[in-house]
Amino acid sequence: MQTFDFVVIGAGAMGCGAAYHLAKDRQRVLLLEQFQIGHARGSSHGESRIFRFAYPQTEYAQLAMQTKPLWQALEEECGQRLLLDSGGLDIADDPSGFAQVNQVVNTLSKLGARHEVLSAAQFGERFAQFRIGPDGYAVYSPDAGILRADQCVRAMAHMAVRHGSTIHESEVVSRVHSDGDSVEVITNRDRYRARKAIVTAGAWVNQLLAASGYPVLPVRIEREQVAYFDARGDRNLSLGQWPVWIHYRRQIAYGFPDLGNGVKVGFHHAGHYINHPDENCGVLDDGDLQALSTYIRERFANVDPTPRNGLTCLYTVTPDEDFIIDALPHSPSIIVASPCSGHGFKFAIGIGRALADLALHGTTAMSIAHTRKLTAAC
Ligand SMILES: Cc1cc2nc3c(=O)[nH]c(=O)nc-3n(C[C@H](O)[C@H](O)[C@H](O)COP(=O)(O)OP(=O)(O)OC[C@H]3O[C@@H](n4cnc5c(N)ncnc54)[C@H](O)[C@@H]3O)c2cc1C
Repeated sequence: MQTFDFVVIGAGAMGCGAAYHLAKDRQRVLLLEQFQIGHARGSSHGESRIFRFAYPQTEYAQLAMQTKPLWQALEEECGQRLLLDSGGLDIADDPSGFAQVNQVVNTLSKLGARHEVLSAAQFGERFAQFRIGPDGYAVYSPDAGILRADQCVRAMAHMAVRHGSTIHESEVVSRVHSDGDSVEVITNRDRYRARKAIVTAGAWVNQLLAASGYPVLPVRIEREQVAYFDARGDRNLSLGQWPVWIHYRRQIAYGFPDLGNGVKVGFHHAGHYINHPDENCGVLDDGDLQALSTYIRERFANVDPTPRNGLTCLYTVTPDEDFIIDALPHSPSIIVASPCSGHGFKFAIGIGRALADLALHGTTAMSIAHTRKLTAAC
């Protein structure tokens, strides 16, 4: 049986972030992934993710502020641009969205983060690309940007290995057990012993916890999809001209400027609850595509409403959409992280830092106190 200081289970954005920091802290780390790093069956694949400080909740804004320098440090270390400056817009133009955008403005003001509130008229002068309703308004945040998602995951994995981490792909963890001061991890190929295990298994988390005899997390899996639309050569929709944006309304919409493949647009929580992460993997839903087309037609003058292509992706959603990041009750050698609920990617390298801190010291300076729900409930 091989031994390590720590075993990290699942090499999506969170597992790669944790392995990167632990390896950098000179720990002997094994990162196990059931598929290949960068696969498209989980939550971390694709061209882009929104990075923003602009949150209604202070804790997440603070966590984003703590995380940005860690992305920048990784960029320095690996010599790649991972976080593109784009600025961000939070938009509301009906009563269902006003409260959240007001709250975003309050949070940014409280934390001293740069932002500008735009009336519908000011918005229209500056961003004629998008049709905002006459009673609407928006907040522009220059600190928002775009994480190049696939490159981020690969960069964290690559740098974890450079710092001495071992990564095994195509190795499925079937069980993890805590026996006092150490853990045993059993896979389809081998057994490992370590001081602690970090479970970053995304939508598969409850399968592993249940198979290991631990209580499952209160999460549901949602299959989401995003689509790309042709910007018809309109340079006003390209990076530098058009920011990332979130449109707060009953059905929250979000999107990105054209990075070369068209503008990417999605609905937050438009998806379908599924029982197993493999269910209908990669199958696009025509009704959802149609709804996105209708939205594009209503809101963008210069975008072709016929989707070019799309992709599916999984949300692992808690009841209140807060993350769960904590040691298992009564088994402190196993730390579980479910930082998804559709908004976790931006924090991956910061959550990786927090997971490494929890594994090494049992505490962290990262703003995750609100996510430590398992031991708080004991
Ligand atoms: C459509 C969409 C849009 C999003 N947009 C944004 C955004 O703009 N901004 C943002 O911040 N966030 C966004 N998110 C959320 C973000 O992408 C997720 O929070 C994040 O990717 C979750 O990463 P993860 O590592 O927890 O999960 P995953 O990436 O799913 O990683 C879990 C890994 O564990 C592996 N695994 C599971 N079980 C086992 C096992 N037993 N043995 C070995 N390996 C195992 C899996 O194969 C997988 O690779 C979006 C998500 C989606 C789906």
